[in-house]
Amino acid sequence: MKYPISIHAPGCGCDGCHRPDESVPLDLADEAAIARLLAGAAANDSGQELMVAARTAIAPGGTPTGTVDTVVVRWGGRTWDVSQHPLAAVSFGPPF
Ligand SMILES: [Zn+2]
Repeated sequence: MKYPISIHAPGCGCDGCHRPDESVPLDLADEAAIARLLAGAAANDSGQELMVAARTAIAPGGTPTGTVDTVVVRWGGRTWDVSQHPLAAVSFGPPF
């Protein structure tokens, strides 16, 4: 997926948000759109702070495995699990 390039405020009805190839209001963003945000391919122009939780593993001996198996984004009552979007998972991988 190549778009959107910007996440706008919830409820935004600007011209860009009426074109699926430009921007999308945060409350209508799907997992692919949020994954692009984490990967740096879309800007967070929503004015909202998003919480990102990434789960990874430490190998015996204490070395990070580099594997991120869960990446979840939360805002308000909304949760997006972007674990299946490789770009997002890689962006939040170790080192921490
Ligand atoms: Zn907009």
